[in-house]
Amino acid sequence: MSAKRADGDAALVQQQVQEVRRATRNMSRADRKRLQLAIEYGKRQHAKQRRASGEPYICHPLEVARIVAESGGQADSVIAAILHDTVEDTQATIEDIESRFGSEVATLVDGCTKVAEVRVSTPDAMEAARMRKLLVALARDPRVIVIKAADRLHNMRTIKALSQEKARRIGIETLAVHGPLAGRVGLTAIKAELEDLAFEAAHPKEYEEVKGELDDPRLQEVLRGALGTLDQHLESQRLYAKVSGRIKMPWSAYKKARQLNIPVRELHDLVGLRVIVSSVTECYIVLGAVHSLWPPAEGRFKDYIAQPKFNRYQSLHTSVVHPSGVLVEVQIRTQEMHDRAEHGTAAHRSYKNADPDEPAWLQRLLDHHDENDSDYIKSVARELGSDEEILVITPQGDTTILPSGSSVLDFAYAIHTDLGDSCSGAEVNGQPVDVSTTLKTGDRVRITTDPTLTPPPSWIDFCVTRRARTAIRSHRKRAMRRQHQAAGEAIVASATLGASPSIDGIGEQQEETLARLGRGEIEVADALAELGVRPEGPHATGATGRTLIEVEANDRHGLLAEVAGVIAQCGGDIVFSSTTNLGNGRCREIFEVTHPPGARDTVLNSTRQVAGVIRVATV
Ligand code: MN
Repeated sequence: MSAKRADGDAALVQQQVQEVRRATRNMSRADRKRLQLAIEYGKRQHAKQRRASGEPYICHPLEVARIVAESGGQADSVIAAILHDTVEDTQATIEDIESRFGSEVATLVDGCTKVAEVRVSTPDAMEAARMRKLLVALARDPRVIVIKAADRLHNMRTIKALSQEKARRIGIETLAVHGPLAGRVGLTAIKAELEDLAFEAAHPKEYEEVKGELDDPRLQEVLRGALGTLDQHLESQRLYAKVSGRIKMPWSAYKKARQLNIPVRELHDLVGLRVIVSSVTECYIVLGAVHSLWPPAEGRFKDYIAQPKFNRYQSLHTSVVHPSGVLVEVQIRTQEMHDRAEHGTAAHRSYKNADPDEPAWLQRLLDHHDENDSDYIKSVARELGSDEEILVITPQGDTTILPSGSSVLDFAYAIHTDLGDSCSGAEVNGQPVDVSTTLKTGDRVRITTDPTLTPPPSWIDFCVTRRARTAIRSHRKRAMRRQHQAAGEAIVASATLGASPSIDGIGEQQEETLARLGRGEIEVADALAELGVRPEGPHATGATGRTLIEVEANDRHGLLAEVAGVIAQCGGDIVFSSTTNLGNGRCREIFEVTHPPGARDTVLNSTRQVAGVIRVATV
């Protein structure tokens, strides 16, 4: 690097450090000292990196920190903003940051890192809503959303350094995810600038068109005229107010016009005035003054002071007919309402000690219902409020959608049946957990496997997805069949040899049951129940193709094989059999038979025809 360039770099960085200092001059001495240490730490960590624009990398976090500070962010947020890319892009660790700057800063940086790890593909409306939900869940703390909004804003301000295609993709993503999210936490100013820059990057042609419409000199003239008239009018009424005005921003004009399917120039709020007063009472007095000046347009008055919007937004809104014929929207609010609308609630307080009078900001989103907001807000509210699904992240950063209540096993089976079958546990956010652990949105899950594993039937209790339950059930069926066969063979063995059965693969309890059955101490039906093979509900009637058959016969060589053959001829399948020696050359056989629906009687009748059979009945 040339000495000249190094000097230029140093001067630029120094200038930006000064701007951060200016934006944070109201911080305590101790906080400013921490901030200085964070700046030095950030400089060291990013020393070897440059932005696409060629600037030293530290310029980016410095700018992000300044935006956060100017949005009302407190010391921890500003310090975290300085450090927001260190864990993701450098050797720095969360532990290191925690030991230097405290756990609060570490938590915020960790949130930034988690959010940064999520890949956002070109989102459709549904995907975008999911992404916002995921980001909110990952951020956990709304201050992280503020830092990431500032991060995105600086990236959008410097987007010209990227290729047009890359800029377009980032613009689309910003319009779908980050702009609306900034709005959700009340960062109105950041949202507006984000969307303007993103609109231009994503749809340059439409941007130019809409901007052309909005730059119409007539609108500018209406704005100037109305501003002056209102200002004078309020002064003559001895109402002290700050009056400002604006032409609608291109993206919101474009979006609204498209939604209403009308040309941009026909929107009713292209020209807007804002009046800021010092008390709620004055808001209503100013409203009267505005309506005495210009006739209100019908049906356009909204009292968001009496009924705040979901994000605590408060204002009076009215539209009036300017003599030029252009509709002018007027918003009236107090300074406090204004600060909240511009900088949001998120920036100003620590959410660890939430104000008991104020529901959590997320709760605000969920409680929201306002028919005047677009479907989008409803869909976000629904998404955020949905208890029906969760989003879980794979080690590769992809997201998987699962029903709420899903466990590690559901996730494993959702990825692949083999992964589910061999799932021995997982790491969730780096911590080892059991297969039964319930997952929540934002969890990053890595499945651990054991190829020798056979899914135990009890797994079904931990699963809510159909896919997982079906897979486990099929294993259970196979296992039961094996167990029944073993039990049947054991009973045959014990009956024939008069010895107590000893069988691999079944438990002590079952062995005991079989032994008692073999000694004739318990009834067959009870033994079957203890062995867990008693058919339940409709199965017992045979209506669905499963029947327990009891056969008494004169024992002879080959009897069992012949009965089995007959049942097979009827389309039946013996899944369990047991033999009890009744003495005097008699025996009792129990068969559990699956068969086509309606074939039960055929099975029973055919079995009765077998030589030596005395009695056939269902159990
Ligand atoms: Mn960044």
